[in-house]
Amino acid sequence: MIRQSFDDSLGSLVQDILRMGSIVENMLDNSVESLKLQDLKLAQEVLKMENEIDSLEQEIEHKCLRLIATQQPFAKDLRRITAGFKIITDLERMADYCEDIAKVTLRIGAEDLIKPLIDIPRMSLLTQRMLKDALDSFAYENIELAYQMCKDDDEVDHIYAQVIRELLTYMMENPKTISQATSLMFVGRYIERIADHATNIGERVIFLVTGIKKELND
Ligand code: FE
Ligand code: FE
Repeated sequence: MIRQSFDDSLGSLVQDILRMGSIVENMLDNSVESLKLQDLKLAQEVLKMENEIDSLEQEIEHKCLRLIATQQPFAKDLRRITAGFKIITDLERMADYCEDIAKVTLRIGAEDLIKPLIDIPRMSLLTQRMLKDALDSFAYENIELAYQMCKDDDEVDHIYAQVIRELLTYMMENPKTISQATSLMFVGRYIERIADHATNIGERVIFLVTGIKKELND
């Protein structure tokens, strides 16, 4: 294969990864919306999208391996492909967490929410932006953006701590809220983990561009 067609395959690999990423972004949005609006149909949609993500991951994984096997790329080209390979693993884990959130929606069903959800959707929006920035940083190999998006993780962690504190107060005041409050704590936890996976993507981009490993979430 000549260089041009290698670049084409690499370009189409990046496009596939971005497409997978935007589905995950949608899944996060939909899963948290489904919880907020108690929309069980929307939650079911998220479960369907998760299957789509699983097969997309497999498909992209094959593309990566085929590219390595047929091109024997080295240096930066190899780092590009391995970054992609690892990013899809992060995306797949994020999709699993979105599925977990949608399952909480289904579990709560029509029962009254113990409180209007404010902080959880705020965490979700911030995390969606992190994911979008992480993918942009990958697409453009922009390490400034990667560093910057990783900083947002502190804010997500901060809101998460607040969510836990608030839900604990509800539980202590009214034991009847314990079961739902626990489920909502899990949702907070899932979003927090999704944001951590977004920072993993940022770290992979930094490694891809600089060749240096950095830990940006602690
Ligand atoms: Fe999965
Ligand atoms: Fe975190």
